[in-house]
Amino acid sequence: MDFRYTEEEEAFRKEVQDFINEVLPPGWLGVDPGPEEESREDVYELALKTWKKLGEKNWIGLTWPKAYGGQEAPLWKEMILLEELAYRGVPGMDLAIAQADLILAFGTEEQKQRFIPPITRGEVKWAIGMSEPNAGSDTFAVQLRAVEQDDCFVLNGQKIWSSGAHHAKYQVVYARTDPENKHMGLSVFIVDLESPGITMRQIEQITGIPAFCEVFFDNVKVPKENLIGEKNGGWQVLLHAFGAERTYGLFINYNAKRYLEQLVQFCKETYVNGQPLGKNPLIRNRLGQAAIEIEVGCNLGHQLNWLAVQGQPTVKASSQIKVHGAAVAQRLANLGMQILGLYGPLNEDSKWVKLGGRFRHEYLSSVAFSMAGGTSETSRNHIAGRAGLGLPRK
Ligand SMILES: Cc1cc2nc3c(=O)[nH]c(=O)nc-3n(C[C@H](O)[C@H](O)[C@H](O)COP(=O)(O)OP(=O)(O)OC[C@H]3O[C@@H](n4cnc5c(N)ncnc54)[C@H](O)[C@@H]3O)c2cc1C
Repeated sequence: MDFRYTEEEEAFRKEVQDFINEVLPPGWLGVDPGPEEESREDVYELALKTWKKLGEKNWIGLTWPKAYGGQEAPLWKEMILLEELAYRGVPGMDLAIAQADLILAFGTEEQKQRFIPPITRGEVKWAIGMSEPNAGSDTFAVQLRAVEQDDCFVLNGQKIWSSGAHHAKYQVVYARTDPENKHMGLSVFIVDLESPGITMRQIEQITGIPAFCEVFFDNVKVPKENLIGEKNGGWQVLLHAFGAERTYGLFINYNAKRYLEQLVQFCKETYVNGQPLGKNPLIRNRLGQAAIEIEVGCNLGHQLNWLAVQGQPTVKASSQIKVHGAAVAQRLANLGMQILGLYGPLNEDSKWVKLGGRFRHEYLSSVAFSMAGGTSETSRNHIAGRAGLGLPRK
C-alpha cells in the first residue's frame, strides 16, 4: 500500500499552501472548520476576503461542471484544498458548497444556472435549515409546514441551530408538505432569507460566540421554482446531504493536528523549574498518545478520500472519522487545558494568555463537534448497521 501523493498532487498542495500563506495575517493560530467563528468580526472579514479570493482562483466547486462556473477537476484536488484549509484553520469555505452539491444533484437547469455561478465566484453565503426544536437526529420529524398554492409554497414554522444564517443570503429549508407521511412527506426549498415573514434570533454558543440562529417563518412565500427535486421527494435530498455532512470529521481531525503542533511547540519553549515542559514524562506520554490518535484520523481520512475517488460507498468511513475526529479534538482540548494549567481558561484578550486562548476556545467548542453534522451516537449506529457490522436495527 502506498499512501504517497503523486507529483501533480503535491504540486497542487504547494500551490494551495502558498495561497494560504498569502491570505492569512501573520501569526494566525487558526479557527475551527465551519462558519461558527465567523460571528467574530475579525474572523468574518477574513472569511469574506478568503471566500472571494478562492472564487478568483476558481477553487470553489473545483469538481463542478464548467457550464456553471466549476472546473470539472478530479475530486482529489478538492480534497487537498479542503484538507489544507482545515489544517491551517482558514475561515471562509462556506456551507454554500454542500448546498450547491444538492442543487447539482437534484435541481432544475434554471436553478443551476441561477444559483451556482455566484457561489463559485465567492459572492454569496448560504445556510442549512434542517434542525428544529423537535427534529434533530431524527430529521424526518420536521414540522415546518409548506402549503402549496397557485404560484408558490407558503412556509410556517421554525428552524434552529442554523449556523451563520444571519450572514447568509439563502437557506436550504427542509419542510413538511405531507403531514400524513413522515418519510415521504418532506420537500426541500431554496429560501431567500430577506423574504417578508422571516425573522431571526441569534443564539450564543458556550464559547460566547452568537453563531447559531433561530429562523422563524410566518407565511413566507417561496416561489415554486425554488423547490429542489420533487414535492415530497425531500428524503432523497436529505440522504444526500447527510453523506456530505459527515466529512466534517475529517476537517476536525486536521484542525486538531494544527492544535497539537502548537501545543508541542509550547512544551518545547516553556520552562518550568529550569526544564522544558517537553521533558516531563507525563506530558511526553500524553502528547505521544495524541499524535497517534491524530495519525489514525488522517489515515481514516485517506481511506474516506480513496473510497470517494473510487465512487464507492462512504457511509461507514465518513461515520468512523466523524466519531473519531470529534473524540480526538475533545481529548486534545482537555490535554491542552491541563498542560496550560491556570493559563488555560484565560480569555484571548488577557495579557497573560498563552497560545492566543485557542485551547480555552477549543475546550468549549469541541463539545459541539460530536453533535454538529450528525451526533457520534447516530454515526455509531450507522457503523453498527447496514453500512458496517450489519446488525439489525431492533
Ligand atoms: C456546531 C453545530 C452546528 C450546527 N449547525 C446546524 C445547521 O447549520 N443547520 C441545522 O439544521 N442544524 C445544525 N446543527 C444541529 C445539529 O444537526 C443537531 O444538533 C444534531 O442533528 C442533533 O440533534 P439535536 O441537537 O436535536 O439532538 P437530539 O437528536 O435530540 O439528540 C439528543 C441526544 O440523543 C442521542 N440520540 C438521538 N437519537 C438517537 C438514536 N437513534 N440512537 C442513539 N442516540 C440517539 C443523540 O446522539 C444526542 O446525544 C448544528 C449543531 C451544532 C452542534
